[in-house]
Amino acid sequence: MSIALSIVEAVDAKARQEGAGAISEITLVVGRLVGIEPEALRFCFPAAAKGSLAEDASLVIDEREGRGVCSSCGAGFPVLFYLAECPECRSLAVQVVSGNEFLIESITIEEGE
Ligand SMILES: [Zn+2]
Repeated sequence: MSIALSIVEAVDAKARQEGAGAISEITLVVGRLVGIEPEALRFCFPAAAKGSLAEDASLVIDEREGRGVCSSCGAGFPVLFYLAECPECRSLAVQVVSGNEFLIESITIEEGE
């Protein structure tokens, strides 16, 4: 819930800055490793957005799979956690290259009066 609120606060402030009358769409990028449930976010969003410019906005969530690259052998593979083991060489020197994103990618605003 607090995450939904902080998203609403951020997009509301941004839209006001630009003199918007309303926000029609919000696109979020949510990595699988971040630990945020897109469904929970969708569920909380309408209550969080009530009374803000984002009240009637549709929420688009772009989920990113977790991916790691092994620093030892260079193999790339899907990961479910930050701490991952390389399936090729068993090294733990794995860099997460995708799935740790959480950001507001874009908002679509409607002109104010
Ligand atoms: Zn490896």
